[in-house]
Amino acid sequence: MTERPPKEDKIRCDACPVMCYIAPGKIGACDRYANENGKIIRCDPLTVLDHRLEAGGEIRPFLKSDWDGEVIGTDDVFVSGVGSGTTYPDYKPAPFIVSREVDGADFVTVVTEAIFSYCGVKVKIDTDRHLGPETAVVRAKGEAIGHVTTSEYGSQMLSLGGVDHLTGGSKSEGRATCDALLRLCNREAVELTIDDGATLIVQAGHPPIVNGETEARMRVGCGSATIGMFASQWQGLVDEVVVVDDHITGVVSEHQAGKVLGWPDTGIRIKGHRSTPGRYFKVAQPGQGWGGTDIDDPLSILNPWLEKKGARPGLTLLMVSTTGEHAAYYVLDDNLEPQAKPMPKALQPSVDLIAENCEPALCTVMFQAGAGGSLRSGVTQNPVKLTRSVQATNTSVTCGGEPAYVWPGGGITLMVDVLNMPDGSFGYVPTPALVAPLEFTLSRDDYRTLGGHDAAIRSLSDILETGGEYGSAVRVVAPKTGDA
Ligand code: SF4
Repeated sequence: MTERPPKEDKIRCDACPVMCYIAPGKIGACDRYANENGKIIRCDPLTVLDHRLEAGGEIRPFLKSDWDGEVIGTDDVFVSGVGSGTTYPDYKPAPFIVSREVDGADFVTVVTEAIFSYCGVKVKIDTDRHLGPETAVVRAKGEAIGHVTTSEYGSQMLSLGGVDHLTGGSKSEGRATCDALLRLCNREAVELTIDDGATLIVQAGHPPIVNGETEARMRVGCGSATIGMFASQWQGLVDEVVVVDDHITGVVSEHQAGKVLGWPDTGIRIKGHRSTPGRYFKVAQPGQGWGGTDIDDPLSILNPWLEKKGARPGLTLLMVSTTGEHAAYYVLDDNLEPQAKPMPKALQPSVDLIAENCEPALCTVMFQAGAGGSLRSGVTQNPVKLTRSVQATNTSVTCGGEPAYVWPGGGITLMVDVLNMPDGSFGYVPTPALVAPLEFTLSRDDYRTLGGHDAAIRSLSDILETGGEYGSAVRVVAPKTGDA
């Protein structure tokens, strides 16, 4: 009788509450841990930042001696949370607690990959174009993952993710939210649709693509600011200038900048709400046309000209958008109707100057998360002391070596630009939640005072020689920016 083959020796990953059983040679549900020869290992190497490497440089040492061991213990080298693994439950010390010497003083960096249920991204999209009304739902793969929030100066903000979308809705909403956040944070391109608004391709550090068109320029300022900047350059070349803008349309002859320059009245009349002289709100509806309005014909924002206020046949008019993308030149005919004419050579440089003064339009993705929960126990046995130490700025907080902004008030709510973090910094677990690198750095004395896991402190050389609970693979990369 032949013996039945032994049942596969699955082992349990305990790096998150999902607790996957993983068969030999297989990976767990999050693609981040595997069963290698009966041991749970982290699939990605621990990422060490070395300031001496040139930008983009990377070394994958098999042995510590493959790399320059002399620097170990100096502040040139920083163990990031990327690839470090997560200890779960949280009362265990964090995966790596590294002793460091910074400017001759003893410091400790506590390193982990934190699991964040309370997290999301704030996205800043540099564009004048109307993406959708404030509070409109933003969707990925048809699921609601966030909303449109405020318009800022030349940009539109989106708030995506958050615990309500991750865990408070349907399973598919949670999955779609987690997937979109993960890809945005890892700097991939993600398609988003906005209810009653645009379809976007958003990618950190890249221009936004709005309804299939790549946005090139961020506006130089609002219409009023543009008048203020360029009024003196237009004087003597044209009788009237209107800078069309969805927020504030500017009219040079009425604007304070024109008045100071002694600009004569022209009898022009603008539709919309006059705010202050030469500054008009709501000249049209928001849209994809001139200056973020819905208009293709700029003359549609003008009422009939007034002769008694200065309108006359032959009067010249420049209409331009806040990016210089749209511009047109007109001359009033005998009926005081503007007639389109070719742009005079003398005026074109002023339009070009507007465009030249625009910055490139980009998408910015800021990861925001709450680190004030149980993960603090991996740092200290008295969690609130860590919070207080962070709030007192005795402990610095970084994500993949990139300094994080910590919000004032309670807890540790942090925000960090994903563009400056190492490649592949983010992961996920199927609960669903995002996984992100997190490091706390403080003086060794302070670490002892706040009840840190002193016995778990290790030297960098020891970490590189023997690795951690989840393996010993290391990659050494140049920091993108920051001062880790
Ligand atoms: S989801 Fe990932 S981290 Fe969680 S138990 Fe499974 S393999 Fe481990």
